[in-house]
Amino acid sequence: MTSERVAYVNGEIVPESQASVSISDRGFLLGDAVFDTTRTFGHKIFRLQEHLERLHDSLRWMRIDPQMTLNEMSGLTMDILERNLPTVDEGDDIWVTQRVTRGLRLAGADIQGAADRPTVIIECFPIPFQERAHYYRDGMPIVTPSVRRTPPEAMSPRAKTHNYINLIQADMEARAQNPDAYALLLDMNGNLCEGNGSNIFVVKDGAIRTPRSQYVLGGISRQATIDLAHELDVSMSEDDIDVFDAYTADEIFVTSTSLCICPVSTFNGAPVGDGGIGPVTDRLQKAYSGLVGIDIVEQYTRWLE
Ligand code: PMP
Repeated sequence: MTSERVAYVNGEIVPESQASVSISDRGFLLGDAVFDTTRTFGHKIFRLQEHLERLHDSLRWMRIDPQMTLNEMSGLTMDILERNLPTVDEGDDIWVTQRVTRGLRLAGADIQGAADRPTVIIECFPIPFQERAHYYRDGMPIVTPSVRRTPPEAMSPRAKTHNYINLIQADMEARAQNPDAYALLLDMNGNLCEGNGSNIFVVKDGAIRTPRSQYVLGGISRQATIDLAHELDVSMSEDDIDVFDAYTADEIFVTSTSLCICPVSTFNGAPVGDGGIGPVTDRLQKAYSGLVGIDIVEQYTRWLE
C-alpha cells in the first residue's frame, strides 16, 4: 500500500496531514459550508454528476458561489481520486467529498461579512467496512431519539450543509440506549424522517414506502433504490410513515452512499418482521450490486471471516 492520501485545498494539492483551513474560516466558525460525498465501487466513482448537481443545489440554497464550474469541480474530483486510489486495497473502496465554505470572516465586519473567495476542499476518506460488516449479517438496530429532524421551515434538510448537530444529538441519544444502534429521527409531525447519513424505507405486504422528499436529504442511493424498485415492478411510494408503520413493517432498510442498502433488525428494540433479511431487501440488494458492478453485501461481510 502506498503512503499518504492527498487533498485539494484552494488550488493546491497537498498531503492530507498538511491540508488545513484557517481558524477564521466560516465553515469552521459557523458551519457556513456545504459538502457532498460519493464513493467508488470497484475503484470506479459512483454517480459523480448527480452528487455535483446536489452540491450545486446546496450551494444555491446557501447562496455560496464556489467560483468554479461543476465541470471544473468534476475534473478536480477525478484528479484527487486518481491520486488517492493507490492507497486503497483491491477489494476496498473509498469516499470522495467536495466541501465549499463561504470563506474567511472579515476583520472588523459584522456576521454577514465574508472574504470574496470561498474555501474549496476535495478529499477522500476510507469507508469503515469492517466496523459495519455485522449489520449485513444481523441487520442494523435503529432507535428513534427524542430530538426531531430539523424541519424545512427552520433549515432545509434537503441541503447538505456542514451543520450536523441535529443528527449528532440524535445519534448520541440512540447510542446511549444501544451502542450499536443508528438514530432514525422523526419529523415534526411524528413521521419517520431520516438518520445521520441515511434514508429509510419500510416494506409491508410487498409494497415499499419512503418518507416524502420535502423532509429529507434527496439521497442519491435513495433515488437509485426507488428506480430499482420500479424496474423490479415492486410497488414504491413516498408517503407519511408513522411509528406504527415501523413497528408493524415486514421489512425495514436504510440507504446511503456507503451503506447502499442495509437491512434493519430492530426498531426501538422490537424485532422487524420475522428477523433475518427480508425478501424485498434481498432482491433490492442484489439489484443494487448489479447496478454498481460489485457484490455490495460481500464487500462488507468478507470482513466477518
Ligand atoms: N440523509 C442525510 C442527512 C445524509 O447526510 C445522507 C448522506 N449523504 C443521506 C440521507 C443519504 O444520502 P446518499 O444516499 O446520497 O448518501
